[in-house]
Amino acid sequence: MVNFTESQMRIESEIKLDFKDVLLRPKRSTLSSRKEVDLEREFTFPHTEERWKGVPIVAANMDHTGTFNVAKVLSKSKLLTCLQKHYTLGQCKEICELRYPSYVAISTGISKKDFLRLNKILKTYPKIKFICIDIANGYSTRFSDYVKKVRSKHKKKIIIAGNVVTGEMTEDLILNGADIVKVGIGPGSVCTTRTQTGVGYPQLSAIIECADAAHGVNGHVMADGGCTCAGDISKAFGAGGDFVMLGGMFAGHTECNGSVSENSSGEKSMEFYGMSSDTAMKKYSGGVANYRSSEGKATVVKYRGSIQTTIENILGGVRSTCTYIGAEKLKNVPKCTTFIRVTQQMNTIFGKNN
Ligand code: 5GP
Repeated sequence: MVNFTESQMRIESEIKLDFKDVLLRPKRSTLSSRKEVDLEREFTFPHTEERWKGVPIVAANMDHTGTFNVAKVLSKSKLLTCLQKHYTLGQCKEICELRYPSYVAISTGISKKDFLRLNKILKTYPKIKFICIDIANGYSTRFSDYVKKVRSKHKKKIIIAGNVVTGEMTEDLILNGADIVKVGIGPGSVCTTRTQTGVGYPQLSAIIECADAAHGVNGHVMADGGCTCAGDISKAFGAGGDFVMLGGMFAGHTECNGSVSENSSGEKSMEFYGMSSDTAMKKYSGGVANYRSSEGKATVVKYRGSIQTTIENILGGVRSTCTYIGAEKLKNVPKCTTFIRVTQQMNTIFGKNN
């Protein structure tokens, strides 16, 4: 038994920031139009010879946003979709209808059953380049071991793994076989982890620290959660995020999973819920096990029509950021970034979401 004395308890007092705590400082720019900005990036990876070129904005592997219909639209603009993990092998035949299969990832949990499903899907659809291994808490040794096991079975695939929020675990996952580490615990729009467990890390600082660790071992990070507008996405790239994953910002579209409701005033909406919410657990596991609690919530979001309009709005916003800070390419955004702090530290502890 470990006895913790007061002197062993640690308090980190270094400032940690969220998206809302900073703004990007404008800088002299030679760009005369947003059209000149190149939002595509080409990536190489630490564990595979595969390369990937595209716009590194990603639809979250939630069952509302990680759908084939979302992938069909996003892939035309070279954005990636992490498909939700509950698609069966049979349902994955829709992969054949994708014109650009290199813009989707197969998502998986870490059970034996998940491993068998993953192997069958990848054997049937070998053109798929990405695997997304996703659990809420990426800190367990069981998770690192699973990443290692998937890497040794799928040597050529690009592996995304997470979620974590600190540099040492980012490095650990990359050394165990991940190419891209997913960063974010608690910032999600339908996440309740911070209130339910007290655990979390302000997202901008998590991205800065994990990116630094990942880049030191030739890996990459995917900032996951907390973006509420195009400016937040630009800040995530500025902080060193190589990829940015979106749930809520891609929710409420025709291509998402779920039906559209209309109230008496004619306002249309769709249900959107966390993958650890009661709603999701009832749907996929028959309920919340008695030794755990839900760490997600259900909400309704405004119905917004086709996701194409949202993509254009996001890409327009990020292009505009690039012209303000003098970045000709998305790749140059971190080196053109100076963040200005605009809030006091106390406001960052419990953000708008939690
Ligand atoms: P958003 O873009 O909506 O702010 O965040 C999306 C991310 O929230 C997802 O990619 C995932 O990492 C996280 N997330 C989704 N559902 C849940 C949930 O039920 N609980 C928690 N803690 N996080 C969730």
